[in-house]
Amino acid sequence: MTRTLLVTGGAGFIGSALVRMLLTATDYNVVNVDKLTYAGNLESLNDVADNSRYSFELADICDAEAIRGIFSQHQPCGVIHLAAESHVDRSIDGPAEFIRTNVFGTFTLLDEGLKYWKSLDDSARGAFRFQHVSTDEVFGSLGKDGLFTETTAYQPNSPYSASKAGSDHLVRAWHHTFKLPTITTNCSNNYGPYQFPEKLIPLVTLNAIAGKELPVYGKGENIRDWLYVDDHASGLLAAFERGKPGETYNFGGNNERTNIDVVRTICRIVDKLVPDSKIGARESLIRFVTDRPGHDMRYAIDSSKAQRDLGWMPRETFESGIEKTVRWYIDNMTWCEHVQSGAYRRERLGLGVNQ
Ligand code: NAD
Repeated sequence: MTRTLLVTGGAGFIGSALVRMLLTATDYNVVNVDKLTYAGNLESLNDVADNSRYSFELADICDAEAIRGIFSQHQPCGVIHLAAESHVDRSIDGPAEFIRTNVFGTFTLLDEGLKYWKSLDDSARGAFRFQHVSTDEVFGSLGKDGLFTETTAYQPNSPYSASKAGSDHLVRAWHHTFKLPTITTNCSNNYGPYQFPEKLIPLVTLNAIAGKELPVYGKGENIRDWLYVDDHASGLLAAFERGKPGETYNFGGNNERTNIDVVRTICRIVDKLVPDSKIGARESLIRFVTDRPGHDMRYAIDSSKAQRDLGWMPRETFESGIEKTVRWYIDNMTWCEHVQSGAYRRERLGLGVNQ
């Protein structure tokens, strides 16, 4: 069996962190399958693009013929599937692309993955894994107490989370019905380098550096559990290598923060690292804006199963990870300028007015 992994969505935020880790810390060959939407950027892989174990396939996961050709050419020992439309606000303004990529695209990968898996010899079939990367948002919203576990009932609230829930169910069914050796992981909010600046942390960081307003939904009281992206990548590898087919694993950082706390923390770090007397204290740039429709109140995750069964532990605390992240954006303004010169220009999305 080859040591070749297909990684879908490897030009995105989490996918690129995974590809960098696989090429620097393991001996897998990596085939990155990505359509390069607005969120995919090959510049995120500049550090590893010359590695002889890396190859790139420009393809849409909804294109069955292209996916069939990629399986047949590269003969992978597994798939780690991250390709998706991933921004909740965009799913409110235009859900169709979320259903297409997240639901139909996952179906297409499963369908072609199953045909390929059936063509393998016994030992390769036994070793093969189809790993699906999902979110804790499929579980809905929590009140003040409690944590999502692997057995929490699904209750997705946004078009994004509903499309991810749909894909999780397809993956589960392909295991149950066809015995495809699947693994699903559900993770809390990620942050770190190379995140497209439409998500809270990079958006606020770049606006704070530039002295622009810092939009915060509602009163900023919504709570998210934050995981540093490299900790997610190490969890994905642990699940791929040690996870049991048919199982699901939750990953979280044990770092619950209100959005307003996150924004204030970023303001303090930016004030320290790039003081600007004309701008003054960045907290004065905070503006509370109309809340996102249907905004989930709280997410928090119990990752004890992954810790126990996979031997996985996050390394970064929120304090260490957020400082590293802000420093990275300050040092990588060229990357930020390049990814933003496309369709997205830090405009306000998700009010449901652009449909
Ligand atoms: P991202 O938006 O940064 O990247 C998505 C990548 O998928 C991009 O490179 C894009 O070009 C590619 N892509 C989109 N549609 C495609 C298609 N039809 N065919 C091929 N490639 C396509 O997303 P991310 O934040 O890196 O998230 C990766 C995965 O992890 C997603 O499945 C997401 O649901 C999941 N996830 C994300 C978070 C988070 O906080 N960002 C948390 C938990 C789970």
